[in-house]
Amino acid sequence: MGVIRGRYTMIVAVHPLAGFDKVLHYRAPEKLCAGIAVGSLVRVPVVNRFTLAVVSQLDPTPDCPVEKLKNVAELVYPFPALTPELLSLARWIAAYYAAPLDTVIEAMIPVSVRKGLALKIEKRLAVARELSVDELETLNRRAPQQAKLYAFLKLQLHPVAKSLVLERLKVGPSSAAALVQHGVLREIDHRIERVGYGDDLGGVEPVAVIPPELNLAQKAAVDSIRASGAKGGFAVHLLQGVTGSGKTEVYLHAIADMLQGGGGAVYLVPEVALTPQTVARLRGRLEQQLGQRVVVWHSSLSEGERLDGWLALASGEARIVVGARSAVFAPVRDLRLVIVDEEHEPAYKQDETPRYHGRDVAVYRAKLAGAVCVLGSATPSVESVNNVRRGRYLHDVLPTRIDDRKMPLVHIVDMRHEIVAKRATSVLSRLLIDKLHDRFEKREQSILFINRRGYSSSLLCQECGYVAECPHCSVSLTYHRADETLKCHLCGAVKPAPLVCPQCRSPKIRMRGLGTQKVEEHVARILPRAKVVRIDTDTMGKKNRFREILGEFRTGKIDILVGTQMIAKGLDFPNVTLVGLVDADISMHVPDFRANERTFQLLVQVAGRAGRGDRAGEVVVQTFTPQADAIQFAKQSDFDGFIEGEIKLREQFRYPPFRHLVHHVFRGDNAEKVLWVAEQWKKRVEPLLAGAAELRGPSPSPIERVQNEYRFQLWYFTGAVVKTVGVLAKEQRDFPWPEGVSQTLDVDPMSLS
Ligand code: ADP
Ligand code: ZN
Ligand code: ZN
Repeated sequence: MGVIRGRYTMIVAVHPLAGFDKVLHYRAPEKLCAGIAVGSLVRVPVVNRFTLAVVSQLDPTPDCPVEKLKNVAELVYPFPALTPELLSLARWIAAYYAAPLDTVIEAMIPVSVRKGLALKIEKRLAVARELSVDELETLNRRAPQQAKLYAFLKLQLHPVAKSLVLERLKVGPSSAAALVQHGVLREIDHRIERVGYGDDLGGVEPVAVIPPELNLAQKAAVDSIRASGAKGGFAVHLLQGVTGSGKTEVYLHAIADMLQGGGGAVYLVPEVALTPQTVARLRGRLEQQLGQRVVVWHSSLSEGERLDGWLALASGEARIVVGARSAVFAPVRDLRLVIVDEEHEPAYKQDETPRYHGRDVAVYRAKLAGAVCVLGSATPSVESVNNVRRGRYLHDVLPTRIDDRKMPLVHIVDMRHEIVAKRATSVLSRLLIDKLHDRFEKREQSILFINRRGYSSSLLCQECGYVAECPHCSVSLTYHRADETLKCHLCGAVKPAPLVCPQCRSPKIRMRGLGTQKVEEHVARILPRAKVVRIDTDTMGKKNRFREILGEFRTGKIDILVGTQMIAKGLDFPNVTLVGLVDADISMHVPDFRANERTFQLLVQVAGRAGRGDRAGEVVVQTFTPQADAIQFAKQSDFDGFIEGEIKLREQFRYPPFRHLVHHVFRGDNAEKVLWVAEQWKKRVEPLLAGAAELRGPSPSPIERVQNEYRFQLWYFTGAVVKTVGVLAKEQRDFPWPEGVSQTLDVDPMSLS
């Protein structure tokens, strides 16, 4: 850096953040050279305006004579916005997820930083040199205003805000300037921190608690992580343990270890607003006990708060960030540890470009940084378990809950009998009603979960539990109301929807999902004296209402909480002794090869909400298909048994993780045109992908029409994902896309709809 060659000092290659995917070259003027590094955020002239850009290379071979290069206008921050490792990560994401590099870089740098938002600086004044008696007398005579200012500041123990003191003393800025110029006063730039946590964290305050003595399994896990750290270099640990087995405690120890070594850490959670206790615990331990600032990264930070948090990390003042998906890009220096809690959560997948998977990016970032990555879950994903089996990940298991409390008792209610019994309500079973009564009498609390999808897109017989499935793809067929057909949205197979169940001839073969509101009404009717409150996407939208509800529930003002599975995560209420899952089938019979896995995870997670205090919990699961593997294995808390069968099935159908899946969606308001384009596209790419990928489709999306747009999809199953994505991305650029049809690629999609 800073090599002086003739009149210029350094050439840099930059990526402009202006919506074009290109590398440009500039000269760095001498005064900026020392500060510019790979990853620096700079302002550069492009045509006749200035734009922000990230430095991607120092001293490249310029693309035109050096004399013609323009100068970098400004270095925005005195430290790099992206580390070289983040820049490599951006390139990998762009290539792997078929996204333009500038979009990826933009996703990595918060808007406030990209805007080059100014730091909030406060000017402060302090006495720099004491005046002698003579000098003071002269000053009193010649410039009484200055003397007044000096006299005031001399009495202060700390520097004082300039604006404040000038206003208070009614002294003009010129007096201050004169004193500064003569070296009597000193002007100090003080950065104001806008620290943003608190809000949106359910009102949970950090508390410093003495770390508990680890149990043997925890110790083994911490030692194993420590050993990887000591060895140096990249390693991934899968930390498996049911809720309450002490995983968070292991993370905290690993972080404390790593801090001692001087490194930084990224701690990802699926959704910060839903894990207030974890954040409070982390801050209590690290801030209050170790004096390390924790940057909390969540969606409702203000721009200023985001900027300050980001700057604290980029400048190295703070070394730890906890946050959702996008915190994986936080500019943590010297990254040594990456934690991904609830690694199986689909929420880690971003559903707009760049469509990256936060967990997978976390693993890759750790790899680039040579850091240790810890993936934690009670129900690890099939992908991660498979990586353990192949020897790619280390496996640390916490087999029991901390206090050795038994797992809750799980009751499976066969709703087919309930329907036959034709009771007053078909929403809640007798057993669930009885238990709700019982808890209410005992003044204990209950939670009822309803699946997030308020509808079912498959056919399910309410008499015998028959579900229509595609024989080729092992996923449920999708029921299309418009033309009364069943379609496989993977391979495109179509058949007429039956009017009666093919298995038992019952006409009760249509399924309708339940809304949270409907369940709330039912419960209120059954238990008129109980306080029942519903929490769903509507309430989630209103930040304060969500907090209020959680607060009221915690303090016992609410008896029964009705909500979607979004509240199944992280929340910990010791007085909850009953959990009901009202409609287990809806997640099980969605047309997705991960449907079983999701259902199993949901059941285990929901069960983990019951009985965290000193009372044992009970779980009631209502289903029309009680014999399903996901339900039976969850009832026994048999993760290994479940995963064994699931991995076999995936291998048999060569679903992920045995191959990668790429989802290609075509949209437009003219259905025929969209389908035609999808077919033309397929004709074009199929020969190019021969041997690399298997194509299925085009087929209609499970929800064929969204906001007046028709959607068709193609699937690529591939063992060579980078090659396949490379071919697709190139063809995407070259294909003569007609007007009125848009399309998107999604690599490793987490949901097949
Ligand atoms: P998980 O993250 O697996 O749900 P936690 O780490 O949150 O588990 O632990 C559950 C509870 O047990 C927490 O209240 C935690 O403070 C406590 N705990 C964790 N480890 C220990 C230990 N070794 N001894 C006593 N209490 C512990
Ligand atoms: Zn039937
Ligand atoms: Zn099929």
